Amino acid sequence: MTFEFLKHDIKQQKARARYRARQCVAEQSGREVTINGKQYLNFSSNDYLGLNHHREINKALQEGAERFGTCASGSSLITGYSYAHQSLENDICEWLNKPKCLLFASGFSANTAMMQVLGNKTCHIYLDKLSHASLIDGALASDAKIKRFLHNDTAQLSRLLSKSQTNTSAEETNNIIVSEGVFSMDGDQAKVSSLAQIAKQHQAMLYLDDAHSIGVVGEKGQGSSANTEVDVVMATFGKALATSGAFVACDESLADYLINFSRHYVYSTAISPALAWATKKSIELAQKEHWRRIKIQELSLLLMSKLSNKVKLIQSASSIHAIVIGDETSTLNVCQKLREKGIWLTAIRPPTVPINSSRLRVTITSSHNAKDINYLANCINEVIA
Ligand SMILES: *Cc1c(COP(=O)(O)O)cnc(C)c1O
Repeated sequence: MTFEFLKHDIKQQKARARYRARQCVAEQSGREVTINGKQYLNFSSNDYLGLNHHREINKALQEGAERFGTCASGSSLITGYSYAHQSLENDICEWLNKPKCLLFASGFSANTAMMQVLGNKTCHIYLDKLSHASLIDGALASDAKIKRFLHNDTAQLSRLLSKSQTNTSAEETNNIIVSEGVFSMDGDQAKVSSLAQIAKQHQAMLYLDDAHSIGVVGEKGQGSSANTEVDVVMATFGKALATSGAFVACDESLADYLINFSRHYVYSTAISPALAWATKKSIELAQKEHWRRIKIQELSLLLMSKLSNKVKLIQSASSIHAIVIGDETSTLNVCQKLREKGIWLTAIRPPTVPINSSRLRVTITSSHNAKDINYLANCINEVIA
């Protein structure tokens, strides 16, 4: 028989308590989710700013569909690039104070595209150990030399860069430092200003994946580059901005290069223009409604203050709060017990996180209220302690 690995690998996945199955969500609105006919408080959503289902965004989506259509009907280089796309790009450039911006179908695609385009033979990619799968896959598929540095260990990053400088001969080397702004599974932040300083010192490019920072970090939600100069910012629309797709903000020459050489950009249909139009509205709301960010911070502090000190919480100033349990089975058990109490939290297990660091990944959104957080903290204390 051929393809026996299909069954074999699934069996092994089950034996390791790593088996994954999808749950069909019947309804999802802000703080609640309905699954299998039962309603839960949802602490697994990436809708950090609570913008999903926003009336004005829905209205913009409909307007966009009527004016530009639901489909781009072509790649951006053929006839897929519309006024809706251009106008969204311009808004993002203004928001992040960047000269150029290009849209991609997803964050996964954007990261893969960028690593492939930048990672030619002359390139060394310095990746934080906890970088997203799409960055790792993109880097591995490129022709670059890859160097991983320990999570947020800027001292090690500096040493690696200095060492490589003395080792390389006269030939051209292009260094790029890659990190997430807010880390997806730990919720902690990169030391963005140190990274920028190190990049400058070594003439490296700084690339940040702001999937979890956009909308959440900064006075106007502009993310990790709010207070620091970052060369390239990638962020997705599918989290705090409550639509779908992604952008890369960069300088003119890189944007020009992408339009000419990025296979992901050239050979993929442009994102739905209706959705681009809707995303303009969500960015407008994300910028002006700072109360949503304040609320996330207040509720996060409340959660931290209410959890018993037996609970191993990773400190974070973002929406993401990781509670490390350890092995897969115990983590699944905790999730099951919380589910019985009406709380929806998905267990995060290897290979998404390192072995023996299976965890609950609690996301706090501006749709939650203090009562929700108190209830969550009480339930976690009861189940874990
Ligand atoms: C979600 C995520 C992505 C992928 O973005 P999509 O638009 O969902 O494909 C990339 N990087 C990080 C850090 C993410 O969390």
